[in-house]
Amino acid sequence: MRHISQDAMKENSMKTKRICVFCGSRVGRGETYGQLAREIGSKLAQNGTGLVYGGGSVGLMGLIARSTSENGGDVIGVIPKFLQELEVAQEGLTKLEIVDTMHERKARMFALSDAFVVMPGGLGSLDETFEIATWAQLRLHSKPIFLLNHEGYWEPLVDLIDHIISHGFADPSSKRLFQVVPDFEAVLEALDNHQNEAVEKLT
Ligand code: AMP
Repeated sequence: MRHISQDAMKENSMKTKRICVFCGSRVGRGETYGQLAREIGSKLAQNGTGLVYGGGSVGLMGLIARSTSENGGDVIGVIPKFLQELEVAQEGLTKLEIVDTMHERKARMFALSDAFVVMPGGLGSLDETFEIATWAQLRLHSKPIFLLNHEGYWEPLVDLIDHIISHGFADPSSKRLFQVVPDFEAVLEALDNHQNEAVEKLT
């Protein structure tokens, strides 16, 4: 039997090993979103945090995956068979998991990840975001979910959630399902604080 020190065990269990990023299968208008995806990829690699994503090579998905890999980081892609051509499965990932359905893709992305970051994206990104948020609402998990509000991109979504709450269709606590952050540094900082708090609870 291998003996691991208690400190090492805490360190292992608390570290955010993998972040799942939901993002556009397009690059969006202008340069800003693509640049953001590349920056996040290199920061994930530098931080030693793996990327979990939808496995495609198109749009922001491809940019973040390639940037993470090129900078020496780990990337796991999860793609349904039928999308392998449409989203052109990315080559050279640490691992590419091929699943049968969209539902399986979301379940695998969830199981592989310790936290979720929602970058600018379209309807697919919204679907993935709401699935993971509503699972949290039902207390099926407590993994953190960050809305990366780059240049205010998700402001209309934040307003929509306020609107839903003000009309009595969600509890005000629903706002706590998401942490709205201006940039990726804030995600890493929040995850570090989260881990420190968890370690303090154990000591
Ligand atoms: P989009 O934000 O629309 O560019 O899509 C981002 C990712 O979400 C792509 O990999 C899509 O395949 C995926 N996606 C689209 N629709 C769904 C859905 N109903 N369930 C899960 N993922 C989806």
